[in-house]
Amino acid sequence: MSVSSHPRFLTYENAHVVAENFGTPVYVYDEATLKGNAADVLAFPNAFGLTARYAMKAAPNAAILKLFGAAGLHFDASSGHEVRRAMAAGIPPGKISLSAQEIPDDLVELLDLGIDFNACSLNQLERFGKLKRGGSVGIRFNPGAGSGGNNRTNVGGPSSSFGIWHEWIPQIKELLETYDLTATRIHTHIGSGSDPEVWLKVAKMNFDLVRQFPDVVTLNLGGGFKVARMDDEIATDLQVVGKPVKEKFEEFAAETGRQIHLEIEPGTFLVANACSLLASVQDVVSTGEEGYHFIKLNAGMTELLRPSIYGSQHPIHLLQEKTNPDSQDYVVVGHCCESGDILTPAPGDPEVLSTRKLPVAAIGDYIAIDGSGAYASSMTPKHYNSYPEAAEVMLGESGTPRLIRRRQKIEAIWENEV
Ligand SMILES: *Cc1c(COP(=O)(O)O)cnc(C)c1O
Repeated sequence: MSVSSHPRFLTYENAHVVAENFGTPVYVYDEATLKGNAADVLAFPNAFGLTARYAMKAAPNAAILKLFGAAGLHFDASSGHEVRRAMAAGIPPGKISLSAQEIPDDLVELLDLGIDFNACSLNQLERFGKLKRGGSVGIRFNPGAGSGGNNRTNVGGPSSSFGIWHEWIPQIKELLETYDLTATRIHTHIGSGSDPEVWLKVAKMNFDLVRQFPDVVTLNLGGGFKVARMDDEIATDLQVVGKPVKEKFEEFAAETGRQIHLEIEPGTFLVANACSLLASVQDVVSTGEEGYHFIKLNAGMTELLRPSIYGSQHPIHLLQEKTNPDSQDYVVVGHCCESGDILTPAPGDPEVLSTRKLPVAAIGDYIAIDGSGAYASSMTPKHYNSYPEAAEVMLGESGTPRLIRRRQKIEAIWENEV
């Protein structure tokens, strides 16, 4: 791989300020990027109204939830705990929709507070019916196809357990009847990617479902909009993918008289490129002529797991006060005693090492790992090797960093042990 250009919003200077004030490793979110992304999502083409939700599991820090809430986004929660977390951040329950693999024990209470609920299995639909006879409910479908980046990010099709399989419509209708329920929303989330053709296909499949349920007024197309973390990746242009979708809504209205409200709920798109993980080089080693040069960070899978489990690619930038003119191919590894803790796997294959050409590194240099906003801080094998949770910082629009999560106190790791 070639020497990557420059970080998205970190420089040696502002990285140094963040490191001096808050230490490393630290997640640095960029307020201007978050706001810009929210504005893009809220401008998604629509025919009869739009509710854009932030899939908060991507990065659930209260400062991010508050910023998105103020921008006009609603929220998608993946567990009852996420609903509680959003509410604790001041998000009104009426702006939260729950689509979960596991029904929370306090579902009735959450429903009474005013959250929306999608039944994601026949069992969930039945349990909802028993709790809320006569109520309105959303149905999450598995429409039979998916377009995830790999087997682990694919969220539709026969090998995915998410949502109710599209062939079980008769069973759904029976449950609706038994419990006097009204299906008002249809939801699918299959990862629509960046290709307008795929979006159109997804919209068509969804309208086939909407047709089956006359009371449905809202169609939620989920998230999964691809972003370009690396230079050679293709980002989703929401105006481009949204145009044929909007036309499909209009066509459906002309044909049936039903003006369906659109919901979308991206996570990745809103936050992925709005955060850089700032770490420090704590060691540099080599394994000889036939081997590799390794940079060891004071961060790793405990802060950014995606490379280790998906082989996902993140831009890695070495930040030096004066950039070393000499370069070297490095394998960048994390701080865990775990051979899988690598930041430079082969693309899509965490089993294979790859290298990045970086300026010759010295202990103490900073490393900025871009594209670390989505499923980074929120998805870590927390406390492995007993490393505490890293701090989180928001780089304000004026360029001033402010703390949004303290570095965890080491005692917090064992405080619940008895
Ligand atoms: C995770 C999730 C999303 C967001 O997915 P991204 O790929 O981060 O955009 C949206 N909807 C549901 C139901 C999800 O579980």
